[in-house]
Amino acid sequence: MIFIKIDQKAILKRYKPIDKFTHKGIQGHALIIAGSYGKIGAACLSAKAALKTGCGLVTAFIPECGYEIVQASIPEVMVLTDVEVKCISNITFEIIPEAIGIGPGMGQELATQNAFHQFLQTNAIHLVIDADGLNILSQNKSWLSLLKSKTILTPHPKELERLIGKWKTDEEKFSKTIAFSKKYNLIIVMKGAPTHIIDAETVYENSTGNAALATAGSGDVLTGMITSLLAQSYDAIDAAIIGVYLHGLTADIALPETGFQSFIASDIIKNIGKAFL
Ligand code: AMP
Ligand code: MG
Repeated sequence: MIFIKIDQKAILKRYKPIDKFTHKGIQGHALIIAGSYGKIGAACLSAKAALKTGCGLVTAFIPECGYEIVQASIPEVMVLTDVEVKCISNITFEIIPEAIGIGPGMGQELATQNAFHQFLQTNAIHLVIDADGLNILSQNKSWLSLLKSKTILTPHPKELERLIGKWKTDEEKFSKTIAFSKKYNLIIVMKGAPTHIIDAETVYENSTGNAALATAGSGDVLTGMITSLLAQSYDAIDAAIIGVYLHGLTADIALPETGFQSFIASDIIKNIGKAFL
């Protein structure tokens, strides 16, 4: 195992400043596939976070019931709707995004599972899988072999356990996650305090973030941020590392104003700009 601590210096080495002559068409288009009845907020948080992380365009693919909610709450985001009202059942779209984030608030209806399976069989675009995307994979482990090399998975501890099984010690957790990453050639963002990013034998330890991040929607925001960086042509490992670092930094910046208790996922989004600065 190779252990690398991620501090500001490591981020500055990976960070690519925005070109003076860029335009939205070359700044990257991120597609967020997320949400279900009662969890459209997850799609909103993820899509807004993607925009605030710098990609030029964001489209949200959501069930029909979320159409007005997303359009009204984030006018900058374009919306595509599934034919189903309450859940995603058929993932088809005619746009060509540079990166896709899938899973937040998506639910695990059978129709959604089938749509996700179909999507994995044909998708060739850089991908971040989170939340219910991970839960569906845990129930259908043979689908893991459909994932393209360097797909990014962002499990919290329970989602990780469903994917790799239980562990008794930290050492076992790392060795099992490394083996999983190697077997399927995936990048695993092992969320926690601190978060570790695992790329085969290399373990990157993040240095930002605090307990204020333990709040609803926090992970959905992270998915949007990493997808945005992927859409801006960062390598998958750099997108994961920079996304996790900035996500944590927002909470460090906001803490003196919000305290631990009143920090919410929207405060992460609000502070992404300051984190970049
Ligand atoms: P999720 O459980 O999917 O909403 O993701 C939670 C996010 O918040 C992850 O990025 C975690 O690393 C982060 N997080 C949760 N609790 C803490 C904590 N106590 N300290 C630092 N980061 C945390
Ligand atoms: Mg989550």
